[in-house]
Amino acid sequence: EAVTELRSLVVGVVLRQADKLASMNFELQRSNEELDSFAYVASHDLKEPLRGIHNYANFLMEDYADVLDNDGIGKLQTLVRLTQRMEDLINSLLHFSRLGRAELIRQPVNLNELVQQVITTLTIARPQSEVEFRIPQPLESVECDRAQINELFTNLISNAIKYNDKPDKWVEIGFIKGNGQRKVASTSLIFYVRDNGIGISQEHLDKIFQIFRRLHGRDEFGGGTGVGLTIARKIVERHGGRIWVESTPTQGSTFYFTLSAEANT
Ligand code: ADP
Repeated sequence: EAVTELRSLVVGVVLRQADKLASMNFELQRSNEELDSFAYVASHDLKEPLRGIHNYANFLMEDYADVLDNDGIGKLQTLVRLTQRMEDLINSLLHFSRLGRAELIRQPVNLNELVQQVITTLTIARPQSEVEFRIPQPLESVECDRAQINELFTNLISNAIKYNDKPDKWVEIGFIKGNGQRKVASTSLIFYVRDNGIGISQEHLDKIFQIFRRLHGRDEFGGGTGVGLTIARKIVERHGGRIWVESTPTQGSTFYFTLSAEANT
């Protein structure tokens, strides 16, 4: 009898927890959707007046060039630079909100080719930064949205190059087969992008995935908007995967994410 009682007690507790989890999941999904629609409305509505300010600052500079002294021109140039920066932020926000709405177009993608293309594009964009790229073994193909996974690798690899102050920079891109560890399904592949850069301290590891969160001054490692990793997380989650980072300050960071080899697993 005691066993039956205990069993119903346990079942009761489990059911209550399951209920709680389900409602938390619902809340989480709702707040994700709210963030998407807020991001969309805010960025869409801010864009137009900001463009106006930008244009007017440019007009002032052109039309009043002979009346303005250096100080005046300097101030207008700062205004143009700041509005440009705000437009960049708004565009990232708009892009982020669109990602949440866009339908995934899944197809078999050769990740090896895709990563090579990403590296080529990034190398052309930053010819001055010498980086050694390491790919220990050819990456497996997966069924995914090509454009989104391209953006994911682009964000992670460009950060790996950017947040690196070593004279001998390297970036390694690879994968591990899910082996039941870290709550990763055995059909999943764990991809990683590893660098020997500046690293991230323990207390910031989770926070860097939050929108607009940046750990360094804008000019220290090149201007970013703090949206790249939020986009990376959204892309991975929309593909049913997880993303996380491990890092040792001053030694380097490794960003991991999981993807299923097949779309419906
Ligand atoms: P952004 O690079 O535009 O600032 P991200 O969302 O891509 O924005 O990254 C957020 C912050 O996380 C960066 O500002 C940086 O401080 C930190 N970060 C990202 N990737 C790395 C990395 N590979 N090594 C060290 N710090 C990183």
